Order: sequence, then C-alpha cells, then structure tokens
Amino acid sequence: MHDQEAITHSPGKNITPRFLIFSRQAASAALIEDLLTQTQARPLPPIEDVRYMIESKHESIDDTGEARFPMPSFSVSTVYDVQEIFTSVMQANMDGMPYLALFFDLFPDEPEAHLKVIEQLCGEQYDIHVLLCMSQEAAQQKAPMLTELVGHKLLHILRKPLLEFEVSQTVSHLIAQEIEQVRLWENDIRFACAARGSSDGVWDWNLNTNDFFVSRRWKEMLGYRDDEISNVLHEWFQLVHHDDRKDLRAKLMHHIQEGEGFFVGEYRILHKDGTYSWMLCRGRTVRGATDRSHHLIGTQTDISEYKAIQEQQQHDVLHDPLTGLPNRTLFLDRLEQAMVRGQQRKAYQFAVLILDLDRFKTILDSLGHSVGDQLLIDVGQRFSRLISPTDTIARLGGSEYAILLDDANGLERAPQLAERIQQSLTLPFNLSGQEVFTGANIGIASNKKRYEHPEELLRDADSAMNKAKDTGKARVEMFVTDMHVQAVTLLQMETDLRRAIERKEFRMVYQPIVSLQNGQIIGFEALVRWYKSERVAISPASFIPVAEDTGLIIPIGKWVLEESCRQMQAWRDMFFQDLPLSVNVNLSSHQFAQDDLIEQIEETLRTSGVSGKHIKLELTESVLMDSESAHSVKKVFDKLKELDILLCMDDFGTGYSSLSYLHKFPFHTLKIDRSFIKRMRKDAKHAEIVRTIISLAQNLHMKVVAEGVETTEQLADLRELGCDYGQGYLFSKPLSSEDATALLSRRPR
Ligand code: C2E
Ligand code: MG
Ligand code: MG
Repeated sequence: MHDQEAITHSPGKNITPRFLIFSRQAASAALIEDLLTQTQARPLPPIEDVRYMIESKHESIDDTGEARFPMPSFSVSTVYDVQEIFTSVMQANMDGMPYLALFFDLFPDEPEAHLKVIEQLCGEQYDIHVLLCMSQEAAQQKAPMLTELVGHKLLHILRKPLLEFEVSQTVSHLIAQEIEQVRLWENDIRFACAARGSSDGVWDWNLNTNDFFVSRRWKEMLGYRDDEISNVLHEWFQLVHHDDRKDLRAKLMHHIQEGEGFFVGEYRILHKDGTYSWMLCRGRTVRGATDRSHHLIGTQTDISEYKAIQEQQQHDVLHDPLTGLPNRTLFLDRLEQAMVRGQQRKAYQFAVLILDLDRFKTILDSLGHSVGDQLLIDVGQRFSRLISPTDTIARLGGSEYAILLDDANGLERAPQLAERIQQSLTLPFNLSGQEVFTGANIGIASNKKRYEHPEELLRDADSAMNKAKDTGKARVEMFVTDMHVQAVTLLQMETDLRRAIERKEFRMVYQPIVSLQNGQIIGFEALVRWYKSERVAISPASFIPVAEDTGLIIPIGKWVLEESCRQMQAWRDMFFQDLPLSVNVNLSSHQFAQDDLIEQIEETLRTSGVSGKHIKLELTESVLMDSESAHSVKKVFDKLKELDILLCMDDFGTGYSSLSYLHKFPFHTLKIDRSFIKRMRKDAKHAEIVRTIISLAQNLHMKVVAEGVETTEQLADLRELGCDYGQGYLFSKPLSSEDATALLSRRPR
C-alpha cells in the first residue's frame, strides 16, 4: 500500500478539460459555448481507445490494475470582465482544476487592453492554451507579436466570423493532447503500481514546486521509519555517496532537459546503520494529470546483492584464484595505463620485473602440490611487502610473477627491488613444517624503448629473465634491444635444426687429449659440428643451447654417441687392439635426465662393438644440479660403472665448483675450464686457483685435464704443477675424422 501515497499525494480531483470563455458580449459567449457543446457531442477520432481518469487517480485503478474510464468531456465557464479572467485562472489553479484553454473573443474597440491581459497571463507562466477569436486583418497584424508572447504551442487563432467546424477541430485537438498527457501519466501510475508489487521504493519530484516525495518503503529500504526522514530533495542527495552524487545529478538534469525515455542511474546510498547500499533508480518526467505541473516519478531498487556478485565476478576475472594477486589480464591493463603516462610525459620511466622461481618443479615433485601452492602464496605475500602501494604485483602463471614499478623513477628503483627480492629469498619458507629454499631469476624491461603494446614490453622482460636463467650467475638481467632479435633468430634456428636432423647435417670432429709428461695422445674429445652448408660449420656453442631448450638435443646427442662409438671401434680395428685410447663424449643435462639413457648406451655399445672402457662421458656440474635427486644420479653412475664407462667433470671452476659433488660422485677426471688456463700467466689469483684444483684432484685420486692450452708457457706451468693431461690448440685443433685417423696412423707404436 505504501506506494499509493506516492501516487495519490499529487492533488487532483478532476481532469475534465475546462474552457474559460471571455467575451464582452453575452451573445457571442453563448455562441461559443454552443459550438463547444456541439463539439463535445461528437466522438473524438484520434483518441478512441484512450482511457483516462477522473477524480483521484488511484481510485480509478481496480484490483486487476485495469481501470474503467469515461469518455472525454469538458466544462465551460464564462467571464465578462478582464479582471475576472485573472481571478478565475488563479483560483482554478489553486483548486487543482486548471483551465485547459482560455477562449478570448477580442473586442474590436479595445484590442490593446485585451492583449495586455494575455501578456500578463503569460508572464505568470500559466500553462494555458489561448484561443483568440479575431478578424482576418487583426490576425495578420498581431500574429507574430502574439506568437512571441504566448508561444506557438499555446496560441490558436480563430478567425471571425467563427466557423463551427474550425472551433470543433481546434477544441478536439486540444482535448486529444490533454488526454494523451493523461495517458502518459497513467502509464507512470501503472509503473508505480508494479513497483508496489515488488519491494521497490517510489519517489516523486514536482519539478515546478521542487516538492519531493518518497514512499514509506523507500525510507524503510534505508532503515528509517516514515517520520524519521523528511521529504526534501536535498536530503536524498545528502544520503547519496559523495562519489556518485555528481553522476546522479548530471543524469537527472540531462533527463529533465531531454524529457524523453527513462532516466536510469545507479548509486550508493547511506543506510541508517552507516553502511552503503547500492540502488538502481529509474524514472521519467510526466506532466501532472490535473495540475499542469511537471513531475519526475521513479522507483528505487536495492541492487546491493547483485552488485556484490558483480564485483566478485569482476575480481575473479582479474585475479589469480590461488594467490589473490592480479592476473596477467589486469597486469597488462595496468601496464597499458603506465605506457600512456609514459607517452604523455617523457620523464616517466617505469619498469617491469618478471621473475621465475628456481627448482619449482623439483619442489612440486618432491613435496607435493599443496606445499607447492602454499609456496606460491607465501612468495606472493613476501614480494608484496617489498613494493610500494602504487606498484602492481601479479602472478602470470606457474611460478612466474611480474611487478610493475609504476612511477616516474620506476626504472631507477628496479635493480634495487630485484636485489631486495633476491635477499628476501635467502630466508627459507616454512611449509607444513618443512623449510624450503628457493631463488629467482629476474628480467627487467622498461619503457625506455618505444612499445606499441604492453605484451611487447612483457615479452622483453621475459627474454631478459630467460637470459638471466641461461647465464646462471647474473640472475638479474636488464633487457637490451637485441635480445628480441636474438629470440627471433633462435626461433628460426629451431626450425633449421629440425631440418638438419632430417638431412643429417651434423659431423663429428675430434680433438686430441695428450699426456703432458710424454706428449702421447691418450684420447679424443668428440665435438659436434653443424654443416648448414658445405663450407660453414656452426659452432655447438650457438646451437647446443637451442637444441637443449627445444629437446632436439636428444636425437642429436644419440647420434653423437653412436657416431663417436662407431669411430672409436673403427680406430681400434685399425690401430689399437690393446692400447688404451678413449673418446670423450659430452652429455647435456637433458640427455642425462632421459629414463632410458643406460639402455641407449648399452644398445650403442652393442651395435658398435666398442667396450665401455674406451668411452668417457663429460658432464658439467649443471647436470648434477638439474637432476631431480641425488639418488637417481647415483643409480645411473652405478650402471655406468658396471659398463666400465668413466666420467669427466667438464668445465670445472665455472659452475658452483662444489667440492661435495666431486666427493659424492665417482668422477675419474676433472677438466679445468679454459678461462683459468688462459689467465694463469696474467693473474696470480688464477694461477693459484689452477694449483688448488690440481692438488684437490690429486687428493681425491682424480686425473686432471687442462682445457684450452694454447701456449708453451701455459704448458710449462701446468707440467710444473703436475697436471696430467692437456687439450688445446697448442697440441691440435679439433680434427675431422680423416685427419684424426691420419694423426693416429703417424703415432709411434
Ligand atoms: P667443451 O666440452 O668444453 O669442449 C671444449 C671446447 O673448447 C670445444 O669447443 C673446443 O673446440 C674448444 N677448445 C679446445 N681447445 C681450445 C683452445 O686451445 N682454445 C680455445 N679458444 N678453444 C679451445 P666447441 O667444439 O666449440 O664446443 C663447445 C662446447 O659445446 C663444448 O665445450 C661442449 O660443452 C659443447 N659440445 C660440443 N660438442 C658437443 C656434443 O656432441 N654434445 C654436447 N652435449 N655438447 C657438445
Ligand atoms: Mg667437453
Ligand atoms: Mg670443457
């Protein structure tokens, strides 16, 4: 029932169109009255099915929401004095029964006095139609001035002598207009009645008087009793959330000015309990049915629940469900905004850091997914504490995070933040009672380079991070422009490498390893070459990393092993049935991780006929570091031992140079990396390192090979230090199979 108040409070008893006739002559007034009465007797064609209400509006609506309406009729009053016009018009308005039209029979003697009355009426802004009866000449003369005065919508000129059909047509037209207004009004009352069925509140704003009315339900929605809140427009606006007020006001004003369609707005409004509720507000302007006033009538619906769901959905779309951090989509969006700022202000140099956790897969495999999930959450929280409120941290997927340092000196802050991140990871994570350590490789990119799309900047940061991973030591890498070029080249190389395998474009070269005591060749290191064209050999240093990244190292490595064993057996058949000679084959960590590595080796030994004691495998420390567990490494090593295959630790000194690896695993030979041999003479520190490595190997009963021996001075020093073997350009460059065979054939037996 509440909303009926909203409907019925508007005054209105009678909307029967009323005409006021002003005439100095009773006879002509009677004539007009007569003509009007005839008009009334006639049906009104354009508005046949229009229903409209008389008396108070809500009473006309029955239980079914339908209403019965009488046919239109109108009433006529007559005045004979100018002053009387004013009194009648004002009184009628006050009574809520305004006149629809004023019938003015202009008296030829005193037209000016009459026009003055009209002017005064219009000055009062009475919304009243003026029907002027005047002669043809007067009409021609005064029409422009009158139109300006009254407005063309409200002015109607009837020429004298009055014609019956002209009068009835004008009157019909006016009534039709009036009834159409009523119909609109009625629609809005229906609308309000529909709201009564729901739990909406109703409001009604009289735009003429600024009176504002809200229903009891409207107040209830905000937790107020009917008498606790007054009907003042200002109060409504005061309750609306400050941030939504401007928008609401603008939408209302726009609707009032345009006056078409519906006004729709959403805003937060203050509840009595101090919280805000989201409301949907719909309304439209209508003319009052009886009092010629303009109203804006509307409903208010509580949409808080819907808004909460909507907000949650929006949040879910833009956030990572595990960590609650922004996801890639939101990150890219913020990055795009930062890029716009960067384009507007040159000095605005923000930065993006991408980081990936070390050994995350190992953690997952060994400790399980729930520990892995907890680690990702804890890492996110730890990183979040390191950034400022204007920055954004996101989880991009897997164990990859991105941070946007979004301010003018973001680029400047990036390296310090990277360092603090690294620092923060030196402390363990306590996950279900276990202490877990992890590290991160970090790539940095900034808007120093011009980017079109945020994805491009992210890609560059990613390239930098991958570079950090590759170098292994730096762990933080800043993007430099050619990295992208490199990435494109890598992609091309991958395609080419696949083709190279099909086309058998690989060949092996063999570099002698010699005894430093007597210069005898004790073996060869087998090194692969890629002959992309007949004359150009591509160095393994440039394609092995790509082969490792793409998994192509597996077929390539398999071929290398087969070819090296085949070669070794061929030499044995030719020269060395009894003499010890071995071929060293390099094994990458990916190959080492193959489940069927041992089977592969056994098979190769069988088909080539070579014994395991003529094969040595060169492994770098990374092979051991990348392996999932020491346990499985040991198993492989035991098998290799059974096959009489010896192991060399390659490139010693460049990785972690961990003594524990040397101690734990049965390496036969240690190869000192070329970089130390090269600097031995120039830098005492390096000479000392070489000395230490040699004595360390001796203590562990290992043989030592010095890599990259290029000068006789280096040879002399190494000899003095007691290094067993050497490999390098001083003795021989890597040789083709034929050249190596020729060299062996010249070897003294
Ligand atoms: P590595 O195993 O340390 O091989 C020694 C590298 O040093 C070879 O480079 C060799 O040509 C080079 N070298 C030897 N003596 C000297 C010298 O006196 N001075 C200088 N400057 N360099 C010397 P290469 O053949 O380019 O191979 C580079 C790396 O590629 C190898 O390092 C190895 O890690 C990898 N590699 C080569 N062949 C294979 C293969 O068949 N399989 C796998 N997995 N890796 C391979
Ligand atoms: Mg090697
Ligand atoms: Mg090496």
